Amino acid sequence: MPKSALVTGITGQDGAYLARLLLEKDYAVHGFIARRGSDTLWRLRELGIEQDVRLLNGDMTDVSSLIRALEVSKAEEVYNLAAQSFVATSWEQPLLTAQVTGVSVANILEAVRLVNLKARFYQASTSEMFGLIQAERQDEQTPFYPRSPYGVAKLYGHWMTVNYRESFAMHASNGILFNHESPLRGLEFVTRKVTDAVARIKLGKQRELRLGNIDAQRDWGYAGDYVEAMWLMLQQPAPDDYVIATGRTTTVRDMCRLAFGHVGLDPEKHVVIDPKFYRPAEVAVLLGNPAKAKAKLGWKPKTSLEELVVMMIEADLKRVARE
Ligand code: NDP
Ligand code: GDP
Repeated sequence: MPKSALVTGITGQDGAYLARLLLEKDYAVHGFIARRGSDTLWRLRELGIEQDVRLLNGDMTDVSSLIRALEVSKAEEVYNLAAQSFVATSWEQPLLTAQVTGVSVANILEAVRLVNLKARFYQASTSEMFGLIQAERQDEQTPFYPRSPYGVAKLYGHWMTVNYRESFAMHASNGILFNHESPLRGLEFVTRKVTDAVARIKLGKQRELRLGNIDAQRDWGYAGDYVEAMWLMLQQPAPDDYVIATGRTTTVRDMCRLAFGHVGLDPEKHVVIDPKFYRPAEVAVLLGNPAKAKAKLGWKPKTSLEELVVMMIEADLKRVARE
């Protein structure tokens, strides 16, 4: 019998890569999927796995649908990746973000507790919880100081996961993942916004790229590497929390230099600063220390930022050329 996994957020960037990884490991992969007016399966299609996953309808805010999905899938591993995940939107929809990104973690933890207490649980925690950083390099001991409704909601999910582990001896782990990107990243996030624009400018379909705070620094890794860490966490004898990062931080400005430089363009000629993209409160810099993940999980990032940017631009050049 293959192992069964349930992935919430399977239509998102990480959900698609994680589903592919689990299929490669011969899991029966079930995806929890919200009904939308438009097609959300493009990432699964791009990876060629749309037909290989079993999709179960539901919504994170509807605990009955989570219970049903756990019963139908008989999942032994549950990966909770669903969220309203875009920081900027969390100021426009703070209450929805609280429900979907925060309280819904309690929904799924309760569902797991009721249906199969022995199932292993992964929560998608985030470096955004460090926000106004309290240490130069953030690790599992660094105090949290979230700076957005998204960060606050994620902190609730993080502590609920710790609490269910301690209260009910659940095998529940938090992956505190720093920013990770890929050709499947949503267009609203800065890296993909840049690589898509670079492709369009190179192919003569766009002239300028409007950005906000380009002095912000992020520790960017490749999503394909990061989903391996999620799986590794659930294979450990005991649950725990892990920082997953590269240990290198780069400004948005330098990321732009890399991206424009790859196609022989000068960002100075195309990037326009637009205060519309400034945030009410900013996370100025993030830099993770993944030493624990390396020591305990044997995990380390395989893809450099340079390789990641090239991978994203090449994918966007092909997409834009096909339009
Ligand atoms: P995406 O935004 O690409 O994916 C989010 C997923 O959540 C989508 O599948 C979306 O479905 C689903 N979703 C949203 N609302 C609901 C709902 N009410 N009910 C059911 N499903 C819902 O995120 P990523 O793949 O980038 O990230 C995965 C997780 O990791 C998220 O929780 C994110 O917050 C977290 N994270 C991400 C980091 C990153 O750098 N990528 C860093 C740290 C943490 P639909 O397609 O239908 O909208
Ligand atoms: P986040 O770290 O989850 O908020 O990921 P994003 O990719 O959305 O943003 C990373 C950083 O880039 C943040 O500090 C943003 O303020 C900064 N940034 C600058 N310009 C932009 C922009 O036009 N869009 C986005 N999304 N972020 C921008």
